[in-house]
Amino acid sequence: MLYGGSEVNQKLVLGHPSGLFVMFFTEMWERFSYYGMRALLVLFLVTSVIDNGWGWERGEALVLYGWYTGLVYLTPMLGGFVADKFLGFKKAVVLGAFLMTLGHASMALEVFSNVFFFMGLGLIILGNGFFKPNIASIVGQLYTKVPEKRDAGFTIFYMGVNAGAFLGILLCGYIGEKVGWHYGFSLAGIFMFFGMLQFYFAQGIFGKIGEFNKDIEDVDDAVEDAIDEVKEDVEEVIEKISKSKVVKDRLVVIGIFTFFTIFFWWAFEQAGGSMTVFAKDYTNRVLEGGGALTFKVFNTILTVVPMMIITWVLSLLFRQTFSKYALSNILLGTSFVIVWGFVIWMLIREFSNEVTEVPASWFSILNSFYIIVFAPFFSKIWESKYNPTGPVKFAIGLILLGIGFAVLSFGSMNIPLNAKSASVSMVFLVLAYFFHTMGELCVSPVGTSYVSKLAPIKFLGLMFGVWYFSSFIANLMAGITGSYLDPIVESYGMSFFFMIFTIIPCVAGLTMLVLNKTIIKLMHGIR
Ligand code: GLN
Repeated sequence: MLYGGSEVNQKLVLGHPSGLFVMFFTEMWERFSYYGMRALLVLFLVTSVIDNGWGWERGEALVLYGWYTGLVYLTPMLGGFVADKFLGFKKAVVLGAFLMTLGHASMALEVFSNVFFFMGLGLIILGNGFFKPNIASIVGQLYTKVPEKRDAGFTIFYMGVNAGAFLGILLCGYIGEKVGWHYGFSLAGIFMFFGMLQFYFAQGIFGKIGEFNKDIEDVDDAVEDAIDEVKEDVEEVIEKISKSKVVKDRLVVIGIFTFFTIFFWWAFEQAGGSMTVFAKDYTNRVLEGGGALTFKVFNTILTVVPMMIITWVLSLLFRQTFSKYALSNILLGTSFVIVWGFVIWMLIREFSNEVTEVPASWFSILNSFYIIVFAPFFSKIWESKYNPTGPVKFAIGLILLGIGFAVLSFGSMNIPLNAKSASVSMVFLVLAYFFHTMGELCVSPVGTSYVSKLAPIKFLGLMFGVWYFSSFIANLMAGITGSYLDPIVESYGMSFFFMIFTIIPCVAGLTMLVLNKTIIKLMHGIR
C-alpha cells in the first residue's frame, strides 16, 4: 500500500489519502474553537462589567492574552512526550480534544464563578498539548513511503487549520460580541465536541498508524525502507557517516528551523496586537454610500467562497469514506449544516444593517481567507519541479513577511510623531496581510512537514513539542514587543515601528539563504 493506514485511506481525495481529510476536519474544528475563543478573550476581559465583561485594564488583559497564547504552545512538549512513551498519537488526540471540550464548557460557565473561567483556560492549554503535536505526527506518517508529497499534504492540512480559524473568528466573534459572551464561548466548545466525535468514529481509517506499541515496529520498518532508498542515492556520503551521526545532524536541522521560526511568529503575531491597534486607531474604516455597499458584497463573497470550498472538500471525503465511516461523516455533515445556518443568519442580519464602519478585527480574517484560497496553489508548487529546498522556502517566507511590514511602514510614513490616531487607507493592511500569508505558507506547513521527515519516529511527538516551543517564545515576545508600541511611536514614529519588523525577518531570511547548503548537507538526503 502506497500510503500508511487502512484500505479506505488509499482512496484519494485531491490526490492525497482520504485520511488526510479526516485530520483536516478534526483540526478545522479544533482551530475553530481555539481561534473563536481567542478572538473573544481580550474583548471580553476589557468590556465593562455593566456590559457583562470583567472590566479589566487593557494592559492586564494583554498580559493574560500573551501568556495564554504562549502557554498553549509550551504544553505540546509534554503531550508529545506522553504520546511517544505511553499513549500513542491517536489516543492523545482524543484525550486532548476531550480536555479542550471540557475547557470551553467551563469557560461558558463563567457566570457562576470566575474560577470556571481560569479552569477553562487551564484545560485548553493542557488539552492543546495533547492534541496539537500528535495530530501533526499522524499526518506525517501517512507519507512515509511517499515523502515527495509530504510538504503538499501538510499544506492541505494547513488549509484545514485556517478554515477553522476563519469560521471561528467570524462566528464566535460575531455571536460573542453581538449576542452574548457565553454564547460565543459555548459555540467554540460545541464544535470542538463535534470535531472530537468525528475523529473518534473515523480513526479506523489510519489502521495501525498512531497506535502505541502494536504498530511502532511496522512504522519503524517503513521509515527504515524510506531511509534505505535515500541511502542508495547518496551512498558514498552516507557510508562514511554513522547512523547516529545522521540522526544527530537531522535533530540539529530541526533546531535551526525551530530557531528561525521564532523570528517569523514574533513578527507575524503582531497581527493580534499592534496591527489590530493600527487597524483600530490609525486606519480609516468608515465607509459611506457605495463604499459601504461594496464592503458588504465583498464581505459576503469573503465568507461564502471559503464555505463553498470547504463544503466541496467535505463532499469529496464523503464520496470516498461514507460506506465505511458513515457515523463520522454524518456528525461532520451535521456540524456543517449548523455552521451554514449561522453564516446565512449572520449575513442576512448584516445586510439589513447600515454598516459604515469596518470592524478592526475584520482584518485578521483576511489571513485565513488568503490561506484557504492560496494553499492549494502552494501545495501544487511544492509537488512540481519548481519546489525549492526547505531552507529556501523559509528564507522566502521570512522575506515576504518583511515586505508585508515594509508596506505598513510605507503606509504610515505620513503619520506625525506621537499621533494617537490617523486615517491611513485600508489598502495597506489588506496588502500587508497578503504578504504575511504568502510568507506563512512558505514557513509554517513546510516546517511542520520537515519535523515529521527529520525526527526519528520514537520521539516524533516530542520533536513536535520542540517545534511548537518556538511559538511559545515567539508569542510571548510578540506581546511584549507590541506593548512598546506607544513609546516607540512617540519617539520614532509608527513607520519606524513597522520597519523593525521588516529588517529583522529579512536579515533572518538572508541568513537562512546563506545556510542553505549546510542545512541540506545536515539533512542527509531528506528533501
Ligand atoms: N497558525 C497555525 C496554527 O494555528 C500555526 C501556529 C503556530 O505554529 N504558531 O496551527
